[in-house]
Amino acid sequence: MIKRPFHELGLEPDLLRAVEKMGFEEASPIQSLAIPVLLEGHDVVGQSQTGSGKTAAFALPAIQKVDPSLRATQVLILCPTRELAVQVAEEVAKLASFKRGVRELPIYGGQSYDRQFRGLSQGAQIVIGTPGRLMDHLERGTLKLDAIRMIILDEADRMLDMGFIEDIRTILAKSPPTRQTVLFSATLPRAIQELVKSFSRNPQTLKIESEALTIPDIEQVYYEVDRRSKVDVLCRLIDLHDIKFGIIFCATKMMVDELTEHLVARGYGADKMHGDMTQAMRERVIGKFRRRALEFLVATDVAARGLDVDNIEVVFNYDLPNDGEDYVHRIGRTGRAGRSGKAITFVSGREIHKFQFILRSTKSRIKRERIPSAEEVEQKRRNVFFESLRELLEKGDFTRHDDLVDRLLEQGFAPTDISSALIHYIQEGVGSAKPVPEPEPAPRRMERDRPDFRDAPQSRTRAKDRDQATRRGRSSSRQQDRESEPVRAASHEAGKIRLVLNVGRDHQVAPGDVVGVIAGMTKAPKSAIGAIFIKTKRSYVDVAESTARIALKKLNGIDFKGRKLTCHVSTEADAAQDEA
Ligand code: AMP
Repeated sequence: MIKRPFHELGLEPDLLRAVEKMGFEEASPIQSLAIPVLLEGHDVVGQSQTGSGKTAAFALPAIQKVDPSLRATQVLILCPTRELAVQVAEEVAKLASFKRGVRELPIYGGQSYDRQFRGLSQGAQIVIGTPGRLMDHLERGTLKLDAIRMIILDEADRMLDMGFIEDIRTILAKSPPTRQTVLFSATLPRAIQELVKSFSRNPQTLKIESEALTIPDIEQVYYEVDRRSKVDVLCRLIDLHDIKFGIIFCATKMMVDELTEHLVARGYGADKMHGDMTQAMRERVIGKFRRRALEFLVATDVAARGLDVDNIEVVFNYDLPNDGEDYVHRIGRTGRAGRSGKAITFVSGREIHKFQFILRSTKSRIKRERIPSAEEVEQKRRNVFFESLRELLEKGDFTRHDDLVDRLLEQGFAPTDISSALIHYIQEGVGSAKPVPEPEPAPRRMERDRPDFRDAPQSRTRAKDRDQATRRGRSSSRQQDRESEPVRAASHEAGKIRLVLNVGRDHQVAPGDVVGVIAGMTKAPKSAIGAIFIKTKRSYVDVAESTARIALKKLNGIDFKGRKLTCHVSTEADAAQDEA
């Protein structure tokens, strides 16, 4: 199915800006077909489903055709329900946000007439409403149709089912014959075809045929997730299933940016790929992903097109794909070469209708799953830890420290207390007391790449550590922005090292952010992070030696506050710059 860039469709710069701002990377098939035809002034009968992007397909040409110097109603959009009218009005408002002087007004039953009278008398060039209430306003003379240039019937078959046919006929008959008539419908029953015959002039029929789609043989599940909880649920699933290599698909570039930042701040090895990045940047990210130097690639459909990486454990549809075809492309990236794979889809609120359409068009069988609780994730983490410990003991493949253990036993500590203290030590992320090596901006290595036993349990404590990190970020009074104090090269606190990060006030960094990224990436305990100084371009933070060692390895190169983070041990030269 053809998908064209928006700038090829004949749209004005104001509209292209809006589309860009909404994060749409390319026009959907129905948009690619309908926009040029509508801009040329033809009547259109479009057969397209909810979720195909049909609203923007008719709204963009409609907005372009509005003359903002006239207050009169020029475009009428008829919708079957108030929910759809509100939704369409919201989309129109966003798409028209850069075109000055264009106003839209939703009008539907159940809303106060006063508000609607006011809105109509102030002048709205685009009116979106349900047929019954629009008829009311026509009869009262508060809605006038003499300046109408375009009438759009959205979900015409549903309007018919709901008994609106006579209202629709009346509205069409009363509007100027020179108007453009646009009808979108999932199906084209006889009554609709007759309507088209009576009220359209030479309409072009645009139909999006779904290709026969072959679903790869992989496990498909979905979760109904509240939009605001998506990040948390994603992290829970990653932790619970111990996923180490996956692609996460988002609908827009903005969502990709936002989610990548969230994941990185929570300690996952994630990077992103979308259409705003240069080819060189994309190749770098793909290279890292292929080498497994990344756990998760967060991407838009466009950016991930042609991406060919084997052994991907899970494909997450963090946002729903546009249609069945994109769904199949996305999930086909897992389960290759005869290996098992899994596709996990998040569905929120009204998206369930779009999702059902995708399922129908792909004839997929997909199970709904229950969101795991935080306790289940914690229990799983304990089980994994238990298993790795048991395995290690069975193999006997570890360095003995009998002298240390004997010393503790001699001091009267019970063996169970010693073991519990050690487990606590590991799980709370208390670092070893090794000296800090010479600082060098090491490439980021992921903790989970290291097969070393000591690291493994830490990697599975992420959820807990994150909670602690958040609490630390909020509550610490010591960790303040000591803006007015001159910065010295070294920390005053014994056992602490002063690190410099290349982000500061200019990048909207607050002390809580610094605590968050350090605690998130190093799993450091509260006591490991000391004074923080936020300067214009850089930030200084005192951390325990063991934390510094991990921070130097892990912070360099990650995305933080829209920049590639660098982190090094503070020098006299740094201090001199920031004292000045
Ligand atoms: P619709 O079929 O009009 O209900 O649109 C479904 C969803 O897709 C809406 O949330 C739109 O904002 C979004 N959408 C529309 N066009 C595009 C596009 N070209 N790229 C990405 N998302 C889109």
